[in-house]
Amino acid sequence: MPRKTSTSSAKEFFPEKNSLKAFRQAAAGCKACDLWKLGTQTVFGDGARRADVLFVGEQPGNEEDLTGTPFVGPAGRLLNEALEEAGIDRSQTYVTNVVKHFKWEPRGKRRIHKKPNAGEISACLPWLEAEIAMVKPKVIVALGATAAQALLGPTFRVTKQRGQFIESTFAPYIMATIHPSAILRAPDDETRRLEHRRFVDDLKKLARVLK
Ligand code: SF4
Repeated sequence: MPRKTSTSSAKEFFPEKNSLKAFRQAAAGCKACDLWKLGTQTVFGDGARRADVLFVGEQPGNEEDLTGTPFVGPAGRLLNEALEEAGIDRSQTYVTNVVKHFKWEPRGKRRIHKKPNAGEISACLPWLEAEIAMVKPKVIVALGATAAQALLGPTFRVTKQRGQFIESTFAPYIMATIHPSAILRAPDDETRRLEHRRFVDDLKKLARVLK
């Protein structure tokens, strides 16, 4: 029986069968860190079984937590729009998160996103590693600092190195850019438009590499 400690590893919950379906089912019962107590359900990755590009965000948000599907909330809709603008077919991609449960704190009646800590990221990372190994993407796109640093190390800075194609052991290339939720949080319309444009430009670079 897997242990149920607060500082365990998702590996203890791995299934015997090496398929996304088996891993998705096994992840539904993961208790490798305490976040299973906070989220409604595990939000495993979703998308094409073999995809040239795999997008990784930080963690599911409020809508993802309720539906059990990644990138279906406001940030996911923005990602879909940006992919369309860049000419990338969303149905041919795979989307997931570094951490599979929603970490939040109450603010009034709302559940506000709370950043996962290093122990939670490390406990959950084996699920992402398994997804990458099965989906076999040519490029992993890290959306935001948490995903970029989980894959490229703690010294990686999205602000300085966004849009670069970096060789990696996880996939031929990893490219980091901002998380679409950062665009939604822009302080004014002009900044939001500028950040949206830069995000689409990063995705257009990706589209050229995928050709
Ligand atoms: S966040 Fe990840 S490691 Fe923690 S319980 Fe959920 S699936 Fe398991």
